[in-house]
Amino acid sequence: MTIPEKIKKPHVAFLPSPGMGHITPLFEFAKRLVIHHGFHVSFFVITTAASAAQNELFRPENLPADFTAVEIPPVENISSFLTDDMKVVTQLCIMVRESLKHLPSLLMKNRPKALIIDLFCTDAFEICEKLSIPVYSFFTASTILMAFSLYLPTLDSEVEGEFVDLPETIQTPGCSPIHPHDILDQVKDRKNEEYNWYLLNVSRLPLAVGIFVNSWDDLEPVSLKALRENLFFQNIPLPPVYTIGPLIKQDEVVTEQDAEILAWLDDQPPDSVLFVVFGSGGTLTSEQLTELAWGLELSQQRFILVARKPSDASASAAFFNVGSDENDPLLYLPEGFVRRTEGRGLVVPSWAPQTLILNHRSTGAFLSHCGWNSTLESITNGVPITAWPLYAEQRMNATFLAEEAGVALKFSKNPGEELVDRNEIEKNVRIVMEGEKGKDMRRRAKELKESAKIALNSGGSSYESLCSVVEFWKSQ
Ligand code: UDP
Repeated sequence: MTIPEKIKKPHVAFLPSPGMGHITPLFEFAKRLVIHHGFHVSFFVITTAASAAQNELFRPENLPADFTAVEIPPVENISSFLTDDMKVVTQLCIMVRESLKHLPSLLMKNRPKALIIDLFCTDAFEICEKLSIPVYSFFTASTILMAFSLYLPTLDSEVEGEFVDLPETIQTPGCSPIHPHDILDQVKDRKNEEYNWYLLNVSRLPLAVGIFVNSWDDLEPVSLKALRENLFFQNIPLPPVYTIGPLIKQDEVVTEQDAEILAWLDDQPPDSVLFVVFGSGGTLTSEQLTELAWGLELSQQRFILVARKPSDASASAAFFNVGSDENDPLLYLPEGFVRRTEGRGLVVPSWAPQTLILNHRSTGAFLSHCGWNSTLESITNGVPITAWPLYAEQRMNATFLAEEAGVALKFSKNPGEELVDRNEIEKNVRIVMEGEKGKDMRRRAKELKESAKIALNSGGSSYESLCSVVEFWKSQ
């Protein structure tokens, strides 16, 4: 679709970088402006090698009125810019850089009052400065990561060598200390291009007119207080930070396969099923997948396992082609696993309706990679987590969820780096599903679920925070 030439309602535009984890929160934010605040939204979509989940989202029949999804034309020779050994963020940033060449002409078709971007689209600052369009950033990951990222340029100038080799924890001003091992992958190898891309993008964050975060005060009180009150952040200076979360996926398109999963869940007892999936692009090695399958089988718990073809090369192998890979789990799960667990377990290839599953009364816990969207979706449904972080900032999230929020249990080994064996998987699954600790975590998740509802309802902190910007835009 193209942006209509005449728009009567207040008009803002959104620009996410590729990847469902980035697109989903911006999409939900945009829908909120359309549905609750009377806006027209132009939503720019950077096209990548077919991503089934993404294509589904932007079918015109799935979009509300006053929501225009605008495809940025694919970069013709994109493969000439990318090499197989490039990390995900490097690829992302190059795709964005090349795609944004089309942005000025698209924006000038009907100038929006503001452009809202995510972390990897910061090339838009320079483009929009020339067009006098204010740019806001939506930081779609945790606030703890945002605070660390804002501190990164300082760390970069002060620390020699690798951060992971630091002998002590890293102290982001005012925030909980971070174990060097937990820092996000993108900053673990400062010699890799990916580090420079990440550093470049976070250094530009303060250029935003305002920064939205997908969180709320009760979930991340420590990091939010630091951003608001700590002198370090005041001196950057940091633009206003608006907590508007949790914004999670509201609608799932239910396929025939999805309906079968939900019907199966209907037949299970309350809180009895463990849901297992590693985000939109997470994959395990073949050895690790075998241990996971055995751990699930030994635990004797009910489960839904979203199975992806194992990859021994990269934990984020499915990132750019999520939901579009043909795959037959029988070819790579341990022999006889599906037969032996029949009735108690359900194996689903590639993709499942995650929010509907987490919202189902039969779902008792989530074995998750702790991506921020999955984290919010779990908490807002009162579901505790067995943390299995794989890449990006997921280790930071897992530690935060276990040690600060009290809703997750970590493994003693580091999944993604060390092999977690079947016995430990069995043990953790049992604890979360049946143990006292599991019950405490579920209680805490349900408390946070209630506090999230309050934050988003009229008069709540996230609602009011968004309203203040909405009123400002409307007044312009
Ligand atoms: N998701 C889903 N079904 C799946 C796997 C993932 O609906 O089988 C969705 C999930 O609900 C979430 C997103 O994909 O909204 C994953 O985002 P997250 O930030 O958790 O992780 P990422 O994919 O960015 O690593």
